[in-house]
Amino acid sequence: MFQAICLQQDEGGFSAGLTTLDEARLPPDGVLVQVAYSTLNYKDALAICNAGPVVRLWPMVPGVDCAGTVLASDHDDFVPGDPIIFNGWGAGETRWGALAQRARLPAEGMVKLPAAYTPHDAMALGTAGYTAMLCVQALTRHGVPPGSGPVLVTGATGGVGSIATLLLAQRGYEVAVLTGKPQAADYLRGLGALQVLDRAEFAQAGKPLQKMRWAGAVDTVGSHTLANVCAQLRYGGVVAACGLAQGMELPATVAPFILRGVTLAGIDSVYAPRALREGAWAALAAELPASKLGQVVTEIGLSEAIAAAGEIMAGRHTGRYVVDVN
Ligand code: NDP
Repeated sequence: MFQAICLQQDEGGFSAGLTTLDEARLPPDGVLVQVAYSTLNYKDALAICNAGPVVRLWPMVPGVDCAGTVLASDHDDFVPGDPIIFNGWGAGETRWGALAQRARLPAEGMVKLPAAYTPHDAMALGTAGYTAMLCVQALTRHGVPPGSGPVLVTGATGGVGSIATLLLAQRGYEVAVLTGKPQAADYLRGLGALQVLDRAEFAQAGKPLQKMRWAGAVDTVGSHTLANVCAQLRYGGVVAACGLAQGMELPATVAPFILRGVTLAGIDSVYAPRALREGAWAALAAELPASKLGQVVTEIGLSEAIAAAGEIMAGRHTGRYVVDVN
């Protein structure tokens, strides 16, 4: 038996609670993990608050991320005793996830825990950190190395935004950030932001082509903000787009693409192939020492995860929640 957050949808409506489950109810296939830490991402908050169409199977154990130890495995790459990180691959959406003390998870979404990190460090990063690195790597891959000019991070106080800001500043980029929390300016400057801008400036429809400001950008919010970022990219600029915190729509024109040669690089962490995952986690371990993560993290217990998800949905949190499931 193990403890887990469980989401139910039945005649009585939706409910979320902490419950005890039998290991026999875990999915039959995959790698059985003794979870040490999980975390809360925006997607987990959507699922726990029933605020978006994340859950495809009821009842559901939410949780797209965990770090822990392999107990049993159906895959040659992982053996009992291996310390691992798991991100995405449908967990918490189409199969039971990792806001639990035990989980059976697909090997495709798993990597070995880098020696530089503890399971707690890995969940301080979680999908947010791994996605932030995928975004930063996309900027480099598409031709925006450090020294190219100012780069903008949107949704900056969030998990992806905070870690993208840290990573870009560490790599030597000139980082500007967009936030709706002016009171978090010191936090953002502490992560390495040189300029803190009000997200309201970007939240409404703007002209298709605007003054060229940014060599690159990491966008976590979508909608008008992403459209305005595209319209403000310099000639040949690149935006790595990974999120939809403002909205799913993209009310933009093709003008920045066909007149300024800008690149919109889409980032998906959920079904990213193993090579990309391992590359992102190896780069995180090499570039971001655990000592830098403390400023970003709030640790909570499993019983506090539902309330914390509400804080994320209300836009009141800063940085990352790490969930000690034990
Ligand atoms: P968080 O909730 O931690 O951060 C989102 C941030 O967006 C908030 O902190 C806030 O920052 C900003 N924000 C919130 N609401 C709005 C709004 N209405 N308009 C503009 N900005 C807003 O989420 P994560 O960092 O975990 O995820 C960010 C996004 O990236 C989410 O949409 C998530 O689904 C997506 N994502 C996608 C992944 C992928 O694989 N493509 C992987 C991981 C996340 P501030 O107050 O500073 O403006």
